[in-house]
Amino acid sequence: MTDTDPLVRFSGVRKTYGTFEAVKHLDLDIGRGEFVAIMGPSGCGKTTTLRMLAGLEEPTAGEITIDGKRMNEVSAHDRDTPLVWQSLALFPFLNVKENVEFGLKMRGVPKPDRHGRAMLWLERLGLKGFETRRIDQLSGGQRQRVALARSLVTEPRMLLLDEPLSALDAHLVIRMQGVLTRLQKELGITFVYVTHSQSEAFAMADRVVIMGHGEIAQIGKPQEIFRAPKNRFVAEFVGRNNILPGKTPGQEIVVAADRMQVSASDPGEGALPAEFLSEEFAGTGIICYFEGPEGVELKAQVTEDQLENLAPEPGQRFWLTWAPGAAHVMAGT
Ligand code: ADP
Ligand code: MG
Repeated sequence: MTDTDPLVRFSGVRKTYGTFEAVKHLDLDIGRGEFVAIMGPSGCGKTTTLRMLAGLEEPTAGEITIDGKRMNEVSAHDRDTPLVWQSLALFPFLNVKENVEFGLKMRGVPKPDRHGRAMLWLERLGLKGFETRRIDQLSGGQRQRVALARSLVTEPRMLLLDEPLSALDAHLVIRMQGVLTRLQKELGITFVYVTHSQSEAFAMADRVVIMGHGEIAQIGKPQEIFRAPKNRFVAEFVGRNNILPGKTPGQEIVVAADRMQVSASDPGEGALPAEFLSEEFAGTGIICYFEGPEGVELKAQVTEDQLENLAPEPGQRFWLTWAPGAAHVMAGT
């Protein structure tokens, strides 16, 4: 074992429920200290994947190793892979500190040591002063931080998180994203973070694994996936992309909406004629929707000033162009 060997390896992992294939074939390495997000639409097999890593489901085929050791038959309890999820049940009959100490108590850690470690984690998670609070006296964000402290107090090699922020308000989500990324970098432990939310995955992870229908559709750094989606599934799932026919038969190209230019007059060769349909205010600009050749939907992101100048009316004809460097050729399905 060297430091460059992966911490986790899924090799040909498959999981079926009866005749249904929840995970079809998974090959995935996760490095030490990496923050990996597994992102995909609901039902694509994310939770199943995480639960297999946690030891809560057994793979139907294939192998999962941690530190080079086969884990398939190892119980969740013996894996050191705590799992935090959205509605992680804290014990209502224990106070904050007792909840955090629980895992240490189960491991027979003596009381003074338990106390010190629990207090350290409560402080790290900004929960100092809340030790004796009851769980029902905490906000959603505070509960989630207690849940994190409870999972981290045993200092596991990795933490598994399944949509941990999905029950929180938008402003809390942003704050907790910051808490989680800082914590992960400070501790240097591996995070495997499952989410259906693009913004969460792209904001936090070193590497993103896009899953669709029980398979990996693409793995890469957030920027790579965003700018160079490998196939139609990824292009449609992430970002606001235009998918257009390429130069050779069967080839498809992707042009991001924010790299599409809109002209009110025909600029000549290569411009796509398109009828304006509607506009939508997005945080970073305005997305204009068009109907292009053969009924294909096209999108362009414009600024408020550009929108004012264009003053588009539904049904009005425009021309869409993009710089050669803005088109990314997809490798194929
Ligand atoms: P995700 O977390 O990506 O939303 P899941 O991993 O929970 O997806 O589920 C993947 C698929 O497997 C879904 O279609 C789900 O209905 C199915 N599934 C999950 N758990 C079971 C189970 N215990 N029995 C039967 N089907 C299941
Ligand atoms: Mg899930």
